[in-house]
Amino acid sequence: MKFSDMPYERVDYAAFKSELEALTEQLKKASSKEEAFETVLKNDKLMGHASTMRTICHIRHDIDTTDEYYAKEKAYYDEVGPTIEEAIVAFEEALYNCPFRDYLVEKFGPVSFKNMEISMRSFKPEMVPMFQKENALTTEYGKLLAEPKIEWEGEMLNLSLMSKYTTDPDREVRKKAFAKVNAFMLSVQPRLDEIYDELVKLRTERAKILGYDNFLKLGYDEMRRNDYGPEEVKVFREEVKKKIVPLATKIHENRRKRLGIDHLYFYDTTDFAYGSPRPTGTPEEILAAGKQMYAELSPETKEFFDFMTENELFDVLGRKTKRGGGYMTSLPDYDYAPFIFANFNGTQHDVEVITHEAGHAFQGFVTRKNYPEMNEIGMETAEIHSMSMEFFTEPWMEKFFADKKDDYVLSHLEGAVTFIPYGCMVDEFQHIVYEHPEFTPEERRKEWLKLEKVYRPHMDYADDEFYNNGGLWQRQQHIYNSPFYYIDYCLAQTVALEYKAWMDEDYKAAWDSYLKLCKLSASDFYSKMLPKVGLKVPFEKGCLDKTVEVISKKLGLC
Ligand code: ZN
Repeated sequence: MKFSDMPYERVDYAAFKSELEALTEQLKKASSKEEAFETVLKNDKLMGHASTMRTICHIRHDIDTTDEYYAKEKAYYDEVGPTIEEAIVAFEEALYNCPFRDYLVEKFGPVSFKNMEISMRSFKPEMVPMFQKENALTTEYGKLLAEPKIEWEGEMLNLSLMSKYTTDPDREVRKKAFAKVNAFMLSVQPRLDEIYDELVKLRTERAKILGYDNFLKLGYDEMRRNDYGPEEVKVFREEVKKKIVPLATKIHENRRKRLGIDHLYFYDTTDFAYGSPRPTGTPEEILAAGKQMYAELSPETKEFFDFMTENELFDVLGRKTKRGGGYMTSLPDYDYAPFIFANFNGTQHDVEVITHEAGHAFQGFVTRKNYPEMNEIGMETAEIHSMSMEFFTEPWMEKFFADKKDDYVLSHLEGAVTFIPYGCMVDEFQHIVYEHPEFTPEERRKEWLKLEKVYRPHMDYADDEFYNNGGLWQRQQHIYNSPFYYIDYCLAQTVALEYKAWMDEDYKAAWDSYLKLCKLSASDFYSKMLPKVGLKVPFEKGCLDKTVEVISKKLGLC
């Protein structure tokens, strides 16, 4: 069904709750393994329908943030959503304690049961009012950053639309664009500080309800980290400091030479003297090129892309009233059909949507007939599907960048490497923040500046007031909206780089491994699945050595 034809109706949470409670009773009284299994499937359907309505509402709200109908509907879900958490947990508890659990684990795999254990230990009904406040704060944050309040050549633009000018080939334009953007950021910084401060305190308060000292353990639990903890992540970050930071510094220096300037400042965001490779086509042509590319890549990707375009499951054109950012989500009522949301703005980013977000959607597509319990992938795994697809699609980049194809491939690889230290910095920052909930906003920003010196010693913020007061992270939506999410990108990028090294040696073998990993979905835990498809687990000392060696050679930097 086309997205525009999909009916929407507000979820009646009172009715939903009583149905859910009835299923919980039914499961508790189940007299056979088959009956228990059937009850779980009914619950999947009920949850799936509520999720579909909520998702349609969110998408339509994001597509036009000024649409009052869906803004009201979204506010309703923000407000009422958390109040049914308790009934959901009650069902999970009944499922977890079901006498036929062994049979159900056999049917659904071990991951969802581990996730249930985590969700049971991480929720208490007393947290509901705090979740409601957090929702209101993150919504306010999103709105604040989406407002078109930046005056640019007679027009009022928002941050997302300004990125075209902060990456302009003309250094003076970039400088001026950054000055405007950061003056705007500075003007909203007091409120951004307050919002984050309140979020940190609310999250800490929730952790205290569970008897924890701080939010760390709860934050990991809320990310459903069912396979590793802060110690493993720390090993990874230390490896990054040792191996990737020096490589990123070399890349930075290489770029300086390529640009032919004496010194790089933060506003020197382009990779080449002419700017950065931009797609040559219109958004419509980019979509058409994507269709052709996926038709050629594999039978599975062809089927996927045809399905997406036929059903209007891409909303990728940038518009003023559209929410910023991009994501992929899915619609359970329609066989878990994937949906891609993005803001095309005439930069490389547009192509990354066709490759990155489509990677997520592709994985969702090939596993859409699984029981949802088999698809509870962690984000560190989900981002492998997307970030690796960015590399697997490289042979087709001529369709998007014409004669600048090689430049794109180079800048994409450099960007993948230099992203990892940035992402680890975002992660370490959050560890510090939640371990010290007593910090003032100024102290937090000071900690950010200290981390900048460790992870990006080559960055120079000139006299920019916003960056020099340690505010850069305040544009990073994940820090506000999804605590501890960011490291997933770094872990996944590491694996994607491993695939990059592999595919240059043997594309077919690397693709087969990737397809196998996509299909494994969440049938097992992260660190068990990677070796099954011939990949390394990034929590071991030396895990980056080989990849860094191959990539350095590729970049001519060793
Ligand atoms: Zn992603």
